[in-house]
Amino acid sequence: MKAKINGNTLELITGDITQFSTDVMVNAANGTLMGGGGVDGAIHRAAGEELLEECKAVRNNQLHGDLLPTGEAIMTRGYNLPAKYVIHTVGPVWGEHSGEEAALLAKCYSHSLLLSFEKNMKRISFPSISTGVYGYPVEKASIVAIQTIGEFLKSNEFGKVTMVLFSREDYETYVAALEEYLSEWN
Ligand code: ADP
Repeated sequence: MKAKINGNTLELITGDITQFSTDVMVNAANGTLMGGGGVDGAIHRAAGEELLEECKAVRNNQLHGDLLPTGEAIMTRGYNLPAKYVIHTVGPVWGEHSGEEAALLAKCYSHSLLLSFEKNMKRISFPSISTGVYGYPVEKASIVAIQTIGEFLKSNEFGKVTMVLFSREDYETYVAALEEYLSEWN
């Protein structure tokens, strides 16, 4: 599914995000930035070891050894991925943020979009942040994701945002959220 928002494109597809050519690929990382399971592991494997090396440097230099806080985002190069850059953002773990989960998830999307915009990147692809191991219900997460991306595109000349959903069920859920968003807006 594709929607036009203020001259920008918001596209929903199914697939493996590591195979999808873009300017900025967003990784649903964890605070350590040292890789992990799910989409994080897939991105690190496809990028090659240099990605982990750069993540280690970011941890040491930019973050002074601390964890990347939930809702924040940092950028690295894309190495062997079909992307110029990777944005690593840490989604909320469902049930562990005293009701701030939606606000934190929205931050993941808005910080990633802003970082890309500042770098003049025109195409960004997102996985469904937090809805795997982090347990965020996909029906709820899809509404936060679509609203945050939609509001950003309404007020910026960006280009193209693609959500790459890993299963048909997730895709259908995001389609429903986007249809709802467009119907409220029109
Ligand atoms: P989190 O820890 O943020 O929940 P996960 O990686 O566990 O992150 O899951 C986030 C979403 O990414 C899930 O919907 C999962 O199915 C999906 N996913 C896993 N691998 C890939 C991939 N290669 N491409 C796109 N999405 C993926």
